[in-house]
Amino acid sequence: MFKALVVTKDDSGATHAAVTSLEVGDLPAGDVVVAVEYSTVNYKDGLCLGTGGGLVRSYPHVPGIDFAGTVEASDDPRYRPGDKVVLTGWRVGESHWGGYAQKARVKADWLVPLPAGLTTKQAMAVGTAGFTSMLAILALEDHGLKPGNGPVLVTGAAGGVGSVAVALLAAAGYEVAAVTGRPETEAYLRDLGASQIVPRETINETVKRPLESETWAGCIDAVGGPMMARVLGQLKSGGSIASVGLAGGANLPASVVPFLLRGVNILGIDSVLQPYARRVTAWDRIARDMPKDKLEAMVGLHGLADLPQLGVDILAGKVKGRAVIDVNA
Ligand code: NDP
Repeated sequence: MFKALVVTKDDSGATHAAVTSLEVGDLPAGDVVVAVEYSTVNYKDGLCLGTGGGLVRSYPHVPGIDFAGTVEASDDPRYRPGDKVVLTGWRVGESHWGGYAQKARVKADWLVPLPAGLTTKQAMAVGTAGFTSMLAILALEDHGLKPGNGPVLVTGAAGGVGSVAVALLAAAGYEVAAVTGRPETEAYLRDLGASQIVPRETINETVKRPLESETWAGCIDAVGGPMMARVLGQLKSGGSIASVGLAGGANLPASVVPFLLRGVNILGIDSVLQPYARRVTAWDRIARDMPKDKLEAMVGLHGLADLPQLGVDILAGKVKGRAVIDVNA
């Protein structure tokens, strides 16, 4: 028997999340059984811990879109018992049972080996949010971003994606400007490496002018909506914005003028279906670049029983940094 956070749905359609005992035989099909050590809380997890947000297909369900742990049994030659592994994406925690359990059974194709230099706890302090931040940095660099080009804007900076993005960019030598709606996080963001704090209210509404001063060499955007549209008109010529999230809205009330007159780019970032080689590249660069003291500073450590409340908090934008789940706590 092992413990898991199981979400059930009653006849009225309401969902209920509770820590429950399961057997290995209850797990979905897969070729590798992992003894999970840590998981995390991402925005999507907030949806899957509650009503499902259209992501969860059937109940009972075990959420948790990422985890790190040790292989316990494997039918695949790439993994052996004792190997340390990390999983993000592939709809795990959405259409397949995820990491909010002491055991998970998944496809070997979905795993990557834990990169050298990271513990399973550190890998989950990074988690899907931080992995996505690194994918955004790689995409921006593929499109010409270099330290010295000018400030790089990070929106939703005190959240999970934003916090890791600030720390990774600063560690790689970029000048970082952090947008936050929580002024009380200024010291935290400066400690992660932000040299400029941009209050959310100064940038979260559309303006009539499609072009403003050329300010940002690039942007990692976790917010979307009117803020993303506004940033498009503030990018330097040839600059790019990596579109990662929609914490502020899915609509993009934008003008095409910045594309035509400044040649700016929107780079879409999808962490779920990244090919194996790109996932390994991103994790290796995280292991190399991520300052471990900064990572530690952004972590709140919790147990499975804390998840229902954390799910509510992350959807309300109240989680600072990364909420890491020790499934054995
Ligand atoms: P968090 O809740 O941790 O962070 C989101 C942050 O956005 C908040 O902390 C807040 O930052 C800001 N924010 C929240 N609401 C608003 C609002 N109404 N207007 C402006 N800013 C707002 O979530 P994550 O970091 O885990 O995820 C961020 C986004 O990225 C989500 O939309 C998520 O779905 C997406 N995502 C996408 C992935 C992909 O593969 N493309 C992978 C992972 C996440 P502050 O308080 O500093 O203002």
